[in-house]
Amino acid sequence: MPRQHPAEPWRIKMVEPLRVTTRHERQQALKEAGYNISLLRSDDVYIDLYTDSGTNAMSDRQWSAMMVGDEAYAGARSFYRLEAAVRKYYGYEHIIPTHQGRGAENLLSRILIRPGTHIPGNMYFTTTRAHQELNGGTFHDVIIDEAHDPLDEHPFKGNVDLAKLERLIAEVGAANIPYVSVAATVNMAGGQPISMANLTEVRDLAQHHGIAVMLDAARAVENAYFIKQREPGWATHSVADILREMCERTDGAAMSSKKDSYANIGGWLAVRDPQLAEQARNLVVLYEGLHTYGGMAGRDLEAVAAGISESVQEENIAARVNQVAYLGDLLTEADIPLVQPIGGHAVCVDAAAALPHVPREQFPAQTLAAALYLDSGVRAAERGAVSAGRDHSTGQNRYPRLELIRLTIPRRVYTQSHMDVVAESVIQVHKERDRLHTGLDFAHEPETLRFFQARFTPSGSGAGSDPFE
Ligand SMILES: *Cc1c(COP(=O)(O)O)cnc(C)c1O
Repeated sequence: MPRQHPAEPWRIKMVEPLRVTTRHERQQALKEAGYNISLLRSDDVYIDLYTDSGTNAMSDRQWSAMMVGDEAYAGARSFYRLEAAVRKYYGYEHIIPTHQGRGAENLLSRILIRPGTHIPGNMYFTTTRAHQELNGGTFHDVIIDEAHDPLDEHPFKGNVDLAKLERLIAEVGAANIPYVSVAATVNMAGGQPISMANLTEVRDLAQHHGIAVMLDAARAVENAYFIKQREPGWATHSVADILREMCERTDGAAMSSKKDSYANIGGWLAVRDPQLAEQARNLVVLYEGLHTYGGMAGRDLEAVAAGISESVQEENIAARVNQVAYLGDLLTEADIPLVQPIGGHAVCVDAAAALPHVPREQFPAQTLAAALYLDSGVRAAERGAVSAGRDHSTGQNRYPRLELIRLTIPRRVYTQSHMDVVAESVIQVHKERDRLHTGLDFAHEPETLRFFQARFTPSGSGAGSDPFE
């Protein structure tokens, strides 16, 4: 009988010791970091679930591939290996390497977006939207409403709402929409997938209006796995097949190899149109490097190429998504309020529901993340009002519907017993939630991307009731 949560399909050849801290040490570290988990030193963190970006463990195959990296400036053998891997598994003809995903977004946005144009997408991503706006475009969220409801169990919460997309096309005109930006999975919704049926409908509608479809492929393999698991008609296809089918429905892709591809750095832009490819090659040399290395060392190109072929292997992708599900199931059974269904790369705790007594202006998610770190040395990421920033016109805090902490699982780095520790700690902090009777106030608030550099003090401290003591 298959186990519900299979063990890891790898064994450990090299270990990286972790520092286990005392509660007193964590108290000190938290104070020094201004109660902002982004400002903690990684040496003070026991299990680091801040992000799955570039935090992957590489395989012995990837490490040995790095030793044969060709560091030639032009025409490196390692570039052709990457090109062959992307063509084989993603199916795009023209590949332009970049230092990471945002490098590809920069090229794509500069080439396609003109001031005053509009880019619809299934929920924004931070760097993607920033590049679209930098080039004078306006982003429009056309994801289905279910994506904004943490309790809705829709199996494909990353789907595009076709009526919203159609309305936008009617409103601004197809000529003013350079492309539809489709993410698979949707990071900001907690790693929720888009279905093949929906992607097909998006492609058909876009094609009908002569609009291109560009894929954010950072976690497209995870998305392909969900299609195989959940969408009728795809269960017997390989994940590699499904990935190819997804890409076939798009005109190009921007990739962060720091996600699906088990690399620590890297990315690429891929397009089918030779003219777009020519423009991208002309630009990449200005912003990244020559079009055969694009900001990556030869060894990085090799690591990404090897990582791509590993990422679509059934046992690897199954273990990846199931490890996230394992943590999600432990927390669901303990009645922790989570975004459901569990996504492909992260478990998101609804901090507003977990700490209803902490007012939104005292940042429940930031508070919960600090409390979790204090309890066990586990670092989550804040995805709530602190990340959302202030409204540019009113200067007021934005309070997004989702006030979350995100437990993001690096690939192949932690074992199931690490996940047990994380679950125990989240459950413990939730059990003692009344201790967190107040939240956090800003002590220092930077103007942009405040979540990285902000400092806080416990609200109402001085009244002798510091919940972090
Ligand atoms: C990480 C990420 C990016 C940006 O990639 P970087 O490699 O971090 O520059 C773009 N889109 C999504 C969905 C991502 O998760």
